[in-house]
Amino acid sequence: MRDHFEIRDGDVAGRIGELTVPRAGVTVETPALLPVINPNIVTVSPARLESEFGAQILITNSYIIHKNDDLHEEALDVGLHEMLDFDGAIMTDSGSFQLAEYGDITVTTREILQFQYDIGTDIGTPVDIPTPPDVPREQAERELAVTEEALQDAEDVDTGEMLVNAPVQGSTYPDLREEAGRAAYETDLDVFPIGAVVPLMNSYRYDDMVDVVAGAKRGLGRDAPIHLFGAGHPMMFALAVAMGCDLFDSAAYALYARDGRYLTVRGTEHLEDLDYLPCSCPICTSHSPDELRAADETEQERLLAEHNLHVSFEELHRVKQAIRSGNLLELVEERARSHPAMLDGYRALLEHTDQLEREDPVSKGSFFYLSEESAFRPEVRRHHDRLARLDATGTVLLTQGGTPKGDQFDATWRVVPPFGPFPRALSETYPLTAEVPDRTDRAAYEMAAEGVARLAAENPETAFVLAHDGWPESALERVPDDVTTESIHSVSPENGEETV
Ligand SMILES: [Zn+2]
Repeated sequence: MRDHFEIRDGDVAGRIGELTVPRAGVTVETPALLPVINPNIVTVSPARLESEFGAQILITNSYIIHKNDDLHEEALDVGLHEMLDFDGAIMTDSGSFQLAEYGDITVTTREILQFQYDIGTDIGTPVDIPTPPDVPREQAERELAVTEEALQDAEDVDTGEMLVNAPVQGSTYPDLREEAGRAAYETDLDVFPIGAVVPLMNSYRYDDMVDVVAGAKRGLGRDAPIHLFGAGHPMMFALAVAMGCDLFDSAAYALYARDGRYLTVRGTEHLEDLDYLPCSCPICTSHSPDELRAADETEQERLLAEHNLHVSFEELHRVKQAIRSGNLLELVEERARSHPAMLDGYRALLEHTDQLEREDPVSKGSFFYLSEESAFRPEVRRHHDRLARLDATGTVLLTQGGTPKGDQFDATWRVVPPFGPFPRALSETYPLTAEVPDRTDRAAYEMAAEGVARLAAENPETAFVLAHDGWPESALERVPDDVTTESIHSVSPENGEETV
């Protein structure tokens, strides 16, 4: 049990948690966004990030500070909090990124962790190797072994109250990510960044990102706070939180701003292409696109960075509220519709339904069936598992329509796509209270048929009659042969049927 992280609420594998950062004397509510501060170029001051944007935690790079004589001296002299003018929690990176970019750095894990401790870092980081995607497996394994040595070195450094990151690497091999997650979890380190996913996000490989995170999550315990390292685009926050990520860091707000790019939850726009500003933040309500374009370079960069931060924090609030309301997957569905690659990410998420189902709360506020993907949600899987435990004896009518007045059936169950059959007594229980469109799609019928098949398989002595409202052939094919099927459109009320 990691006692500095407590989970308060959850939806899918996403959670609202509290990360206690003892050295800073603060508790950070997660999911949290850590704006990246480049100590050489401050676009929005940390004090303003705290007071105007509500940032409780930020991240800066201890290696840059270590390498720069002036910054080095100042940080040791006054400490990081005073140097940056920030009272919240400060995480520092170690130079691993520079190692990946330039192939060599001049510090070891022990040296940089000691330096981080000396400058007053609240959450420090060892020197791991961020192995990029798609490398040969042998390279991924070799570099992972080096990262795991770094974690062991980190355990040996006396870091007092400073929390320490245990990065999880393994390239695009989900089984290596799982193994790395398990090894990291077994250390006494505190926070778990999933590393080297930026190249996946930059090339819109959200499905591969989901598989990598799912692998790491299988190795890490549920109580492990997870940082999706380098993930700063608000478009994918909902998806990443649904997978169980708790911390995000954004360099994107500043880097994109420098490049004239304007973040939205549906993707990235170029300022030069915008005729309208689809946002109500203080920047967008007080400027027209022409005014933003006319601003001088530094001013434009600051204005765009502030907009980018507003839209990022706003989306994080939306995600948190969705967790509280129990409709995070509905938000993920909405975001998945903004780009085909996001849809791939959502579909990849649903391929991990069994894994999600173990964390998804049993009861929530609502289930809106919004797309064919909804048929594959964890709630549907859970209902099918429950069907295997329900008894049905004698002759049982499974019907989408009315209740027959005669007594030719021992029991009458309702059938609702995508769930399939259930006893009427369960009608008012989640998720069977779901709102499903009247114009249901093929995936919902097919999944309901899977439910019928599951029930029939568990009750081989029972005679089932399925009265359906005109299911497509692809659904009826999934119903076992020993289940009698009829369309309710062919049963008239005079034959003892009343409509509901
Ligand atoms: Zn704005």
